[in-house]
Amino acid sequence: MSSARLVSFVFGEMILPGKTIGVLGGGQLGRMLAQAAARLGYRVHVYEPQPHCPAGAVAHREVNAAYDDVAALRAFARDCEVVTYEFENVPAAPLREIEGLTTLRPHWRVLETAQNRSREKRWLRDQQLPHAKFAEVLPGGDLAAAIRSVRVPCVVKTADFGYDGKGQLKVMDEADLKSALVKFRGLPAVVEQFIPFACEVSAVVARAANGDVRVFPIAENIHTNHILDFSIVPARVAEAVMARTEELARQIATKIDLVGVMGVECFVTKAGEVLVNELAPRTHNSGHYTMDGCATSQFEQQVRAICGLPLGDPTLITPCVMVNILGDAWGKGEPKWDLILAEPSARLHLYGKSEPRPGRKMGHFTVCARDVETALAKARELKDALFAQG
Ligand code: ADP
Ligand code: MG
Repeated sequence: MSSARLVSFVFGEMILPGKTIGVLGGGQLGRMLAQAAARLGYRVHVYEPQPHCPAGAVAHREVNAAYDDVAALRAFARDCEVVTYEFENVPAAPLREIEGLTTLRPHWRVLETAQNRSREKRWLRDQQLPHAKFAEVLPGGDLAAAIRSVRVPCVVKTADFGYDGKGQLKVMDEADLKSALVKFRGLPAVVEQFIPFACEVSAVVARAANGDVRVFPIAENIHTNHILDFSIVPARVAEAVMARTEELARQIATKIDLVGVMGVECFVTKAGEVLVNELAPRTHNSGHYTMDGCATSQFEQQVRAICGLPLGDPTLITPCVMVNILGDAWGKGEPKWDLILAEPSARLHLYGKSEPRPGRKMGHFTVCARDVETALAKARELKDALFAQG
């Protein structure tokens, strides 16, 4: 067998450079995917309801239509060899309508499971994967009873459309319980045991159509106000915790039949147990460090996985810390980018968003250094200087 035949035998049909990749969602994840795809010579079409989106600005084509506009979705799908999504809240149901017109990766069933917290938690339980104890509240269901069954302290989360801590409430006492009953009245929700974690970690895992799995180095994540603030790599956790997190990510990717990339967020308990918190069937904010720290970035890996190319090498080249730049840094006008640009160990990534609202992800920067403590100290120093103007 010739080597080209052998590659196609092992990897199936490859969607080669020059073909068109469709991306549903036009945010920064779509933008960085489009940049990685363009470097490999692909064309990228972006589908996003809001005009002038970050991904559209670097794509070959931007289509603005609603996610449930089936006619527009079908027309979009016909122009693309493969379609993926960069946004978890793309409704899964209309995606059934593009089956047969293109290759959708990951499958809409993966999105359907991951985008609804009830289904996601139920799936983790059915697969016997470790997770925080929880109770489901159906629409119009009994939230107070669910809170009693899980016990305080707990966290109430809406089943749909949550991100960056939106749609969540921590319940510690009677007063919180009353607020939760008002805030979540009638809504489908999940009540989750509060985990007094030692730290949070995440894995970005890629799985190819032939079942090959690669996991990027585990990141340690520090959230501030429920939004990712720092990702630190290598994570400062025991070797066993890293191995366990990687193993869970592999199991999840395989059991959910992923073709693409997925972020797996976990809590690490004080006893060193790893509990799965959330699944995101796309690239992940905590994987941005791979662009500057790894042999292959998570975005190139996503292109490779969805196009049926061999997966890239996820090896860490250098310790690395990533810091999110939120709209809060614009307090006194445009942040002083030269603070970061003048530092040789730092790399700046901006998403081309024009409206810097508080809490909005406008960009990120990474610092690479010979060890993680040096990288973290420099990252904190740069962040403090940048946000001091805010
Ligand atoms: P999202 O990222 O979609 O907003 P998460 O469920 O990941 O929602 O929650 C955001 C952050 O809130 C988590 O990363 C964690 O810091 C905190 N958090 C969420 N659930 C719990 C929990 N059960 N126990 C402790 N902290 C939690
Ligand atoms: Mg999360």
